[in-house]
Amino acid sequence: MVYDIVIIGNGVLGLSTALSLAALDPSLKIGVIGPESREGGASIAAGAMLNAFAEITSTSLKSYAGQEKFNLSLQASKKWRSWIEMINTYLEPDSQLTYQEGTFLILNSKSGILDSENFYAILKALNEYKECYEEVMPEDIPGLVPLEDCRPLRSLYLPNEGSIDSGKLIRALREIASKHHKISFINASAESFNFKGTSIISVNLDKGEVITAKDYVVAMGSYSQKLIDTIPQLSRRIPRLLSGMGCAVVVNQDPSNIVEHVIRTPNRSGACGLHVMPQGKNLYIGATNNVYTEPKTRHKMGFTHFLLECALEQINQNLHKSDVKTFHVGNRPATIDTFPLIGKTSIEGLWLLTGTYRDGFHQSPFLGEALARKILGLPHELSNVFAPERPLIRSFTKEESIEEAVRHYMSGAYERSVKLPKAGWDEVLRDLIHKRVNYIYDRLETDFGLSPDMIMMFEFSDNLEETLEYFRDYFKGDHLKRNLSVL
Ligand SMILES: Cc1cc2nc3c(=O)[nH]c(=O)nc-3n(C[C@H](O)[C@H](O)[C@H](O)COP(=O)(O)OP(=O)(O)OC[C@H]3O[C@@H](n4cnc5c(N)ncnc54)[C@H](O)[C@@H]3O)c2cc1C
Repeated sequence: MVYDIVIIGNGVLGLSTALSLAALDPSLKIGVIGPESREGGASIAAGAMLNAFAEITSTSLKSYAGQEKFNLSLQASKKWRSWIEMINTYLEPDSQLTYQEGTFLILNSKSGILDSENFYAILKALNEYKECYEEVMPEDIPGLVPLEDCRPLRSLYLPNEGSIDSGKLIRALREIASKHHKISFINASAESFNFKGTSIISVNLDKGEVITAKDYVVAMGSYSQKLIDTIPQLSRRIPRLLSGMGCAVVVNQDPSNIVEHVIRTPNRSGACGLHVMPQGKNLYIGATNNVYTEPKTRHKMGFTHFLLECALEQINQNLHKSDVKTFHVGNRPATIDTFPLIGKTSIEGLWLLTGTYRDGFHQSPFLGEALARKILGLPHELSNVFAPERPLIRSFTKEESIEEAVRHYMSGAYERSVKLPKAGWDEVLRDLIHKRVNYIYDRLETDFGLSPDMIMMFEFSDNLEETLEYFRDYFKGDHLKRNLSVL
């Protein structure tokens, strides 16, 4: 089969790019490759929150690259309403999508000091950018009935940061693509490329089919690394992609305390913060985040237990009566430096759109359209900061990274209700964690400052020593040679 453009990956980024391409040039013949089950995909596991400001942390805006990433989110925030309006023009009234307005950001003391730092960083950014928000009394938040010792002391309402039912959006995008545009879906997995000289001429699928196109967009989320690895000369030049495995649960709402808007904490303990959001009569509860070198597709008992405990204690204890409707497991595409991979590669006709980690769902309308414009040679708003073939971006020194990691470990411990002997023992625990993180750095033999979630990857690794050795060799490669400290 011959196409103009083939999108490899059927998550929200692949679908948004396909639809944007078709809208810009209806004559294009577009193929989207990906297994219908989307097993392990991030998009179907996300709730999804559409947050820009509420995602800010005390460190995220310190680097130029961090600012650029935030700019992507701001651009995306501006697109959501018109994107949904466009989608709804194709849908029957009873299947139309609703952008659920509003996010309550809560500050409770259930986790570590990091929560306060991130909460105040968000508040500062809201003020600096003159973004609309309101301080509200936590007891006035619909659906919030935490245990008394988990009650929030402050909360903000962000009217411009909402959510969308991710499953409904994915189904809608797919339906519009196949019914109203020249977009075909190929229920298969891409395995490798065929080359003529240095150019790609086709892609091989697991079911034996060979698909030919002029341009190929790899948007397979964390599964992209496997395909990138089939082209070693490229793989060496692209920051390694990992899997931020996340668990989420959908239960029915407590009928006496309905959650009406997203309720979330700031990002904490190497994860995206505890959050709940309404999905019709149900409630989405998310999400854990543990980084692995390969995607995972099964819930882990410990993570699910943690998530449910957090929701019962910090959101609504009456949820213990709720029926569990669905468990989700998905893998956030996370690069080792946590920044995305967007744009053209040095292989003619090969493009990448991945590495979006925690906010790829939110950024999808902007990234899909911007990449589509770039592929078609139209004016676009993508900068080159996140070009796929780039050295790792440093956003922490090694010392900052160690300090930040210790804070995230402590946050995780407090969120897990650690009880230390009184008093002065948290300094002892901090010292122990310090030693542990230093051990990781000693074994890695690098000065590259990792983000805390990447350090925690070693903690959760199924084979710590092997993973340390792999990354020790990785950092000895040429990934750091071109210094991007100007960023
Ligand atoms: C639990 C959880 C909660 C999240 N919450 C939010 C949130 O609230 N807001 C937000 O903005 N973001 C959130 N994210 C992050 C967001 O989901 C991702 O950044 C985004 O969905 C990535 O989209 P994607 O299309 O790149 O990848 P994916 O959704 O992972 O899609 C990749 C697709 O490629 C397919 N594929 C795999 N192998 C192959 C192959 N060999 N060939 C072809 N196709 C293949 C997969 O089946 C999959 O469907 C969350 C993620 C998780 C896991």
